Amino acid sequence: MDAREMALRQAYGHAVRWLASLSDRRVPARASVEEIVRELGAELPDGPSKAADVVDLLATACEPGLTAFPSGRFYGFVVGGTEPAALAADWLVSAWDQNCVMRAVSPAYAAAEEIAGAWLLDLLGLPSDSAVGFTTGATMANFTCLAAGRDAVLRRSGWNVAHDGLVGGPAVRVIAGEDRHMAIDLALRYLGLGKPELVKADGQGRIEPGALRHALAAGGQGPTIVILQAGDIHSGAFDPFAEAIGAAREADAWVHVDGAFGLWAAASPMYAHLMAGCSYADSWATDAHKTLNVPYDCGLAIVRDPFAIRAAMGLQGDYLIQDEQGDPIDKVPELSRRGRAFTVWAALRSLGRSGVADLVEGLCRHASAFATGIAGIDGATVLNDVVFTQVCAEFGDEERTERVLTRLLDDGTAWISGSTWHGRRVMRISVSNWSTTDDDVTRALDAIRRAHRSA
Ligand SMILES: *Cc1c(COP(=O)(O)O)cnc(C)c1O
Repeated sequence: MDAREMALRQAYGHAVRWLASLSDRRVPARASVEEIVRELGAELPDGPSKAADVVDLLATACEPGLTAFPSGRFYGFVVGGTEPAALAADWLVSAWDQNCVMRAVSPAYAAAEEIAGAWLLDLLGLPSDSAVGFTTGATMANFTCLAAGRDAVLRRSGWNVAHDGLVGGPAVRVIAGEDRHMAIDLALRYLGLGKPELVKADGQGRIEPGALRHALAAGGQGPTIVILQAGDIHSGAFDPFAEAIGAAREADAWVHVDGAFGLWAAASPMYAHLMAGCSYADSWATDAHKTLNVPYDCGLAIVRDPFAIRAAMGLQGDYLIQDEQGDPIDKVPELSRRGRAFTVWAALRSLGRSGVADLVEGLCRHASAFATGIAGIDGATVLNDVVFTQVCAEFGDEERTERVLTRLLDDGTAWISGSTWHGRRVMRISVSNWSTTDDDVTRALDAIRRAHRSA
């Protein structure tokens, strides 16, 4: 066996042991940064070490400092776990070490991206000739889509931003619901568009179409982008797409939808109604590392008009690109050489159409079990109207809710963290892991009851 194979075998053994530990392991890390630094050793060795020994040291030293993100009892952020075929594909990606930027040099990647993209559009109920770009996450997917939108609305006003920049051009109005995700503000900041104008949302974070219509009418006819949301991180609620997009269309605005985890509702016959009308937007951002459970990092930028995404992101720079085919690198700010479409292809190929629907419905079913379980606790209040994959709850006043959250984290059975929603401290549960079992939910609910009793 050569050194490379020995190192890979060492890594395989550690990976399998890590995955096997997830069903029973405490979710939070046990060791601090300082402890891990000590174990890893801060001193750069003078000479070489065996690859297998290095892998062994890394795995052994880091193990106590790992948070069990892929555990079925991690409900902190919307994370997702590691779908088996996608995880294994990710290992192959490392071994293949392709530079995936162009069709001509990595035909395998271009093929996987083409197929995965087409399957995604089909599953998400989006126009089949849209362009699909693979990004690091939904933040950059939002950025990519909004760049395409910014350039397109300016082009319609006779301004070529790729050539002339933003300065001196018409002002771009950006309108979003007041409960948009903070990633939207970040993307707009990167794009030089400043803060969005905010439109009133209801108690669950859904934009109010009447207020949107009013804001659009009040602002005149300049270049405009409207940002909607599929899946509020607190309530899981979806914007009323048909009405909101209708209003935006009348104002000739570009409509973008942030659906980091929620867009996947479209893949389930039970939840697709939440997405009704969403396919009439111009662009959509989502994550594959959330609901689809591929390993980090993987976001998806989907733009109805392939010309618009290439005009904004294409390596050639200006908007005169004729090639409808394009290269993977022409759809995103920076194409990962890691070839993200391989893992997405693997997850979709392994789950199949019904598997993706089952995945979404399983997450929702577990979220419902949380909502029902918490509603049964004396003094606890579930704050959601309807349950998708998110559950927010209060346990009496804010101080008590905070104490429950602290006890829960000390307990370690599950990772459930707090959030501030409409100015109030709440418990927020995100169900996003394919491997969560009924037993995981039962154990997490028991931990919540224990924390509540002792708080
Ligand atoms: C998670 C999330 C984002 C940001 O996604 P990243 O993958 O972390 O960049 C944006 N919007 C919503 C609604 C999200 O849930």
